[in-house]
Amino acid sequence: MLLLLKKGVSETAAAEVATRLRMFGLAVHRTDHEGRVRLAGVGDGVPVDWDGVRRWPEIDSVERIPVPFKLVSRVFHPQQTLISMGRCAIGSDQLAIMAGPCSIEGEEQAFTIAAAVAKAGATVMRGGAYKPRTSPYSFQGLGEEGLRIMRRAADAHGLAVVSEVMDTQQVSLVARYADMLQVGARNMQNFSLLKEVGQARKPVLLKRGLAATIEEWLMSAEHIMSQGNTQVILCERGIRTFETYTRNTLDLNAIPVVKELSHLPVIVDPSHGTGIRNKVAPMARAAIAAGADGLIIEVHHDPDHALSDGAQSLWPAQFEELVAQIRTIADVVGRRV
Ligand code: PEP
Ligand code: MN
Repeated sequence: MLLLLKKGVSETAAAEVATRLRMFGLAVHRTDHEGRVRLAGVGDGVPVDWDGVRRWPEIDSVERIPVPFKLVSRVFHPQQTLISMGRCAIGSDQLAIMAGPCSIEGEEQAFTIAAAVAKAGATVMRGGAYKPRTSPYSFQGLGEEGLRIMRRAADAHGLAVVSEVMDTQQVSLVARYADMLQVGARNMQNFSLLKEVGQARKPVLLKRGLAATIEEWLMSAEHIMSQGNTQVILCERGIRTFETYTRNTLDLNAIPVVKELSHLPVIVDPSHGTGIRNKVAPMARAAIAAGADGLIIEVHHDPDHALSDGAQSLWPAQFEELVAQIRTIADVVGRRV
């Protein structure tokens, strides 16, 4: 339920209302909007006399939040969420441009790519140190050594770092090196992992699962937020369909749909969304035109020899050209790079 408190209700009175709701067995989350405290009282099947609550002197209104993703919804939190990340506030007018290799492969590779993407206009470096690979015989990532290298490469070029965490036991380790924790598509419904990153004090980049509906994706974000972490960024990265000419089908419908339902920033990954180098730029342009808050793109200085996802990685010069085009499109949709 969403409780709007009366304008001018004191902090003490607001805290008291929250305590009374907790005594019913509800979890209580707060947001402030237009000078008014909004409380979400959430919990499954807790019997509460809501007509009685409506008569409490601090209460202006009590309404049901008509979607299952309560904290993620704009009903609870009408204003856009901004997440500060390095030199960028994700969700603001400034588009978040994240780029880097699929996997961190070594010093020279990481430093070369960090320099290239920073020069082109990225503010966040991506790169996996723990890789979810279909085959156990494929490169699995450099682990902590990869994180260490990536951190230094990113710092050398003023970039923030996003890197994937695959397991609950890796969360605190990855959080020591990365500014943002990526939950990959294959782990979107790993509920123990969602709980763990929900307790971390770092923003979480939540990729949409390969076969997840938008509602399932938003429910996964709800898992993270219900643990107290309000810094969630949604990432559309393509879903599996019957189409075989592309690796996945990038669902750009999801952008306006999620923007209406949720206050969380939404970015797009056209690299995994298409799986094909020369399809990345057109879909990146389309994503920004459709209202995405940013992009995450795979870039490699030697994609033919990349240890993962070389076929969908842009050359640095292609990435630079793409960012220039994004600047132009951004202007049309009232954004900037
Ligand atoms: C990645 O970002 O390299 C990755 C494995 O992404 P996804 O989880 O979207 O497949
Ligand atoms: Mn990849």
